[in-house]
Amino acid sequence: MTETKRTLWIRQPLACSDAAAAGGVVIQSERIIEAVADGARPQSRVDDVFDAGNHVLLPGLVNTHHHVYQTLTRAYSPALNKPLFPWLTTLYDVWANLDEPQLALASELAMVELLMSGCTTVADHHYVFSGALTHAIDVQVETARRLGVRAALTRGSMSLGRDAGGLPPQSVVQDERTILDDSQRLIDRYHEPDDGAMTRIALAPCSPFSVSRELMQETARLAESNDVRLHTHLAETADETAFCQQQFGLRPLDYLEACGWLSDRTWLAHGIHFDDDEIVRLGRAGTGIAHCPSSNMVLGSGLCRTLELEAAGAPVGLAVDGSASNDHSNLAEEMRQALLLGRLRYAPGEITHETVIRWATQGSARCLGRDDIGGLAAGQQADLALFRLDEARFSGAENPLAALLLCGAHRADRVMVAGRWRVTDGEPCDVDLSELLARHSQAARRLREAL
Ligand code: ZN
Repeated sequence: MTETKRTLWIRQPLACSDAAAAGGVVIQSERIIEAVADGARPQSRVDDVFDAGNHVLLPGLVNTHHHVYQTLTRAYSPALNKPLFPWLTTLYDVWANLDEPQLALASELAMVELLMSGCTTVADHHYVFSGALTHAIDVQVETARRLGVRAALTRGSMSLGRDAGGLPPQSVVQDERTILDDSQRLIDRYHEPDDGAMTRIALAPCSPFSVSRELMQETARLAESNDVRLHTHLAETADETAFCQQQFGLRPLDYLEACGWLSDRTWLAHGIHFDDDEIVRLGRAGTGIAHCPSSNMVLGSGLCRTLELEAAGAPVGLAVDGSASNDHSNLAEEMRQALLLGRLRYAPGEITHETVIRWATQGSARCLGRDDIGGLAAGQQADLALFRLDEARFSGAENPLAALLLCGAHRADRVMVAGRWRVTDGEPCDVDLSELLARHSQAARRLREAL
């Protein structure tokens, strides 16, 4: 028997989000091989045991939308207190100076921050490709692989700059041919189609309004021919709806559909401003929605109609969104925000901690087109998040699962990705955190000073 084939029982957690795994899970290599019933012993051979009696066990959380480069422009004074469009135009000029070493640090910082919050799969939407940053996705793949985090990295794009009536400066837009060729290169080089994939590539124009109609259509065709997923921002603000009607004579979803994007290959960031008919169409198509509660509150964008979307058949996942509109990358905190924000729209009994945990795990996994993550069933990947409740904020809590959200869990004690511990005792493995923070904050300062 080789060392890699040993089995590990995560034994009898204090609580678990999946009743079928109340007795824990048995891991072998990168997979869960058995979910254990409450109080039972595993039927599988057990070589090693981790006693989880002080831990709440969840499937590893899955983040469906982020812009990790924005960790370099958190709480940036000139962009504070602005709605989406002026906020974007203020920051584009800063982001236009990004280079590859800065993006590497931003990626590492955001991925470590996500890991420490219990997140095991990170999706990022990177669409700034200035002259100094033509290999942004390569940098992100390398960082995710080094950290051992599962990643869905999306090749973003912008082809309409200020010269063509768009929002971004010309220095960060690319022509269609360059974008499509690089998309194909990245898929060929990095995309892992198989079950258990650690790296997937998806295609992601920044928004349907920052690229040409031809690029939207060509991107959909390229995704179809390579069987990769499609992602973009949609229906984030009322301004966007007005802009789209003025520009195309169509509402955003009609335009998306006209470009060949209304399908179960697509997941959309935000998805706030949909009417009843549009929700039915999204559900029928199986298009996913990455719900970003903190960002929606910071920018005053509105409240996503999460429950109607889910009821219609659209997968709903959770996301921290970019750090310049959140400004953290903490998915555990985002679960609490989703619960609280949801209560402004729905009755307390309709949005529960179970609802939100479902969004952050299996709902998010469905947005990314995956059934091998987001759960604790035998055969799924061994991606786990374990939280302790021995901080002051949890003291006196009766229901451990509810306590994670209501008392505000923000730091996992242990996180496993594909059978490897990536966080232990609340600290990331193989990362010098204080050194990373020093280098990241220095890079942020340099970026601001370059303006
Ligand atoms: Zn976003």
